[in-house]
Amino acid sequence: MNSIEKLTMKIVEFRDARDWENFHTPKNLALSLIIETGELFEIMQWKDDNQLFVELDKIKPKLKDELADVAIYLFLLAHEFNIDLELAIAEKIEKNWEKYPVGKKTEFEQ
Ligand SMILES: [Mg+2]
Repeated sequence: MNSIEKLTMKIVEFRDARDWENFHTPKNLALSLIIETGELFEIMQWKDDNQLFVELDKIKPKLKDELADVAIYLFLLAHEFNIDLELAIAEKIEKNWEKYPVGKKTEFEQ
């Protein structure tokens, strides 16, 4: 069992101990993922990138919490569809190496 699967089992254990699994439909999980991503953006709202790094010590605890919330819903969604997320990420990185060969300019670089 890889590390993402182990974390997912901890999340599922937490969820099932509270009988929340009926609320965790794929659509609700996807919506929750977007909502938590919104909470992540809220921390950055009205700040430029430089401000974020200047204030990093202050905002880091909230960033950690929201990134974790995003990951939790992402892991649960992958679990619902029986997708091995670690393998999916590794395979997608391989696809990206083929899609974006080193030295080939992307649209935003031209
Ligand atoms: Mg949150």
